[in-house]
Amino acid sequence: MRIELEKLEGGRGDFAHVYQPDELEGLDERIKLTQPAEIKGAVKRAGNDVFVDGHVETRVQVECDRCLKPVELPVSADFALEYIPGADYESSSAAALSEEEMSVSVFDGQSIDVDEIVNEQILLAVPARTLCREDCKGICPDCGIDLNTGQCNCASQDVDPRWAALKGFQNTDS
Ligand SMILES: [Zn+2]
Ligand SMILES: [Zn+2]
Repeated sequence: MRIELEKLEGGRGDFAHVYQPDELEGLDERIKLTQPAEIKGAVKRAGNDVFVDGHVETRVQVECDRCLKPVELPVSADFALEYIPGADYESSSAAALSEEEMSVSVFDGQSIDVDEIVNEQILLAVPARTLCREDCKGICPDCGIDLNTGQCNCASQDVDPRWAALKGFQNTDS
C-alpha cells in the first residue's frame, strides 16, 4: 500500500491496513508472520516534508539461534517517522531533527510506502539473537540431536581434538 500525498485532503489524513501474511513482500526471510499485521497511523504534510506516525501490531515466528525450533514473538511497535524529499535532504536540518530522535527517511516526494514501514518496524522489533529459552542447549554438531530433548554420547566418547587442545591450554593457564 502506498499513500499518495496528492490525495491527502488539507495535507493530512489517517490510514489503516491489515496485511495478510502472504501479502507483505520484502520482509526479512528469517521472519514469518503468524497472524495478519495491522498498521494504523496518521500522515501530515509540512511543506515538502511528511510526518507519519502510528502503530504496528502482529505476531511473528523466527528460528531459535541454537536449536532452530520456531519461536513466536509478539510485535507491538509505535513509530514516528519523518520523510524528506531526496532533493531537499542535503540542505535540510537533518542534524537538528535527529536530536529530537525522529527517524528521517528520504522519499520520492510523491508517495509513502506503507509496506516498507511495516517491514521495517517488524525487523526492528525482532531481536538480532533469538533463543527458544534462555538456557537452550542447542543441537549436537556431530549427530544433530536436539540436546533439549535428549542426550547423545558424541561429546563423552570422542572428544574433538580441537577442544582437547583448548582444554590443555586452559589448564596450563590457570
Ligand atoms: Zn532453542
Ligand atoms: Zn551427538
